Amino acid sequence: MSRYLFDPTPVPAVPVRGIAQLYPIRRIFCVGRNYEAHAREMGVIADREAPFYFTKTPLDYVPTGATLSYPPGTSNYHYEMELVVAIGAPAFRVSAADAPASIYGYACGLDMTRRDLQLAARDKGRPWDLGKDFDQAAVLAPLVRAGEVGEMTHGKIELKVNGVVKQSSDLNLLIHPVAAIIADLSKYYHLQPGDLIYTGTPEGVGPVKSGDRLEGSIDGLAGIAAAIA
Ligand code: MN
Repeated sequence: MSRYLFDPTPVPAVPVRGIAQLYPIRRIFCVGRNYEAHAREMGVIADREAPFYFTKTPLDYVPTGATLSYPPGTSNYHYEMELVVAIGAPAFRVSAADAPASIYGYACGLDMTRRDLQLAARDKGRPWDLGKDFDQAAVLAPLVRAGEVGEMTHGKIELKVNGVVKQSSDLNLLIHPVAAIIADLSKYYHLQPGDLIYTGTPEGVGPVKSGDRLEGSIDGLAGIAAAIA
């Protein structure tokens, strides 16, 4: 007899470019408002002092190429194109200088968002979970190992909807760069291999509708794509 009442949910895992083994996902952290121009389009001033976070459950993961169901409870379903960092070694109270040693790799990610629910929660001072944490809300391309791309401190980040560029920026405009995010997050968590960090989206976020096709890219990384059912 199994020790479990029912089959445990399999651990979500993401492919890694160039190798056969998968990277199992442990936790998903996301940084809010990490580009000045995106904070402005959200009607707020970015906090340059310290980053802030929300989380998604690993079960929200869906691989690039997926067709996304229009999620329930929203009429304003948005894309957010982001650089995702994958942790590969434990990090706790690390300095920004030491943070890169904990990076396994990087990927293109889409932080899919029920914007109406997120903003309603935000404006009432409530948690963002309904807006950010739902099925298929974390689209992710294959990871590219850090050794292949080096430290990602600059490079073009772009998203097209139906072939039209909607988001175009550069990683050097991240208010809190990757090393600073890891250093800050590691003040609050024992980061472990399997932890992913969505680092925030540049300006140009917007709604998608049935039939739309999303294509994202970041210099040096494997591209990401998704369709809306
Ligand atoms: Mn985001």
